[in-house]
Amino acid sequence: MGLRRIEDADVNGKRVLVRVDFNVPMKDGVVTDATRLMSALPTISHLKSAGAKVILLAHFGRPKGQRVAEASLMPVVAPLADMLAAPVEFADDCVGPAAKAAIDALEAGGVLLLENTRFHAGEETNDPDFAAELAKLGDLFVNDAFSAAHRAHGSTAGIADLLPAYAGLAMQRELDHLSQALRDPKRPVIAIVGGAKVSTKIALLENLVTKVDKLFVGGAMANTFLAAQGHDVGKSLYEDDFADTARTIMEAARNHGCEMILPEDLVCAREFKPNPETSTVPVDAIPADMMALDCGPATVDGLADSIDACRTLIWNGPLGAFETPPFDTSTVEAAKYAGARARENNLIAVAGGGDTVAALNQAGASSDFTFISTAGGAFLEWMEGKTLPGVEAVTD
Ligand code: ADP
Ligand code: MG
Repeated sequence: MGLRRIEDADVNGKRVLVRVDFNVPMKDGVVTDATRLMSALPTISHLKSAGAKVILLAHFGRPKGQRVAEASLMPVVAPLADMLAAPVEFADDCVGPAAKAAIDALEAGGVLLLENTRFHAGEETNDPDFAAELAKLGDLFVNDAFSAAHRAHGSTAGIADLLPAYAGLAMQRELDHLSQALRDPKRPVIAIVGGAKVSTKIALLENLVTKVDKLFVGGAMANTFLAAQGHDVGKSLYEDDFADTARTIMEAARNHGCEMILPEDLVCAREFKPNPETSTVPVDAIPADMMALDCGPATVDGLADSIDACRTLIWNGPLGAFETPPFDTSTVEAAKYAGARARENNLIAVAGGGDTVAALNQAGASSDFTFISTAGGAFLEWMEGKTLPGVEAVTD
């Protein structure tokens, strides 16, 4: 892949517009999780020391083209300055005179954050005039926001057509790891896909069966596959309408030599609440009045063996209703197992997805994984094999 890498650009004295992902969790105007700020530091530091004027562009929340006080990026300034141990300037608009004046006043090596790009309607519509207003402010563009790369917006795609455009270090790290896992992996490769619905992950499953050696399906999604195989899934969450889709995916797996693995046993309950009475049953014995809420221990053992047989793991989606104990058990056990294999350097383990990341954190396994994507939608679309506009824009 011909990524244009920012290290290869001469940025000394240049005005460099850097698209970052600062869509951080915030409560009462205070950043509650600075992970996303942290991932922007390598690119910012690189540009600072290379003598660039570093001008940060980001969106926050969904102000829908209006100036909304609660969606201001102002609260990001102080924590970012702390982490950089350097001043961070702020301009209260991302285009126009306020932005221009702040950039003119910025010294080489200085850092300036521009206000929320989504205060302008042209951001999300990728309006050419808005992109041109942005592009006027800089000499170079760097996209370091992989998590926003699936959207063709003014500050992710439009601007990249108007300025020399490069991938930042966080974007590169993300793409390098995802490519290593899916495009050029150490084989065999196993994918674990879980979550609630097949309907949200059809494209993902369709792509994975053509690429990986083993595909484990867990979570409520597995119920749809089990039902399609003729099992009675009782009161479990499943999608009747997607039985044909499930059969098509199983067929495609067979055609591509991908071993499809479904749960052997399930943990069932009559009520979906914390710590109800549960029964662990084989998949062909789900009681009619119960719902399957987690994979059982035999399934986890089998999955561990499958992981052992592989060199690369790609994981998206929890294996059960992990937010409600004890239905986090199989997800936590499998995460710990994979984490330990990765820690011993026996496995390249890559994961992504909003709930997946939460579940891996809950299992205490995140730091053992080789790479965890901070992107939700962009991670999925990339794994689906789609071309992401924000990546396309920085690729030759
Ligand atoms: P991600 O955000 O990582 O892509 P998803 O959003 O697809 O993951 O799926 C996560 C959701 O799936 C969680 O809320 C989890 O509770 C739910 N889920 C998984 N297995 C089951 C199950 N057996 N029954 C009900 N919900 C489940
Ligand atoms: Mg989710």
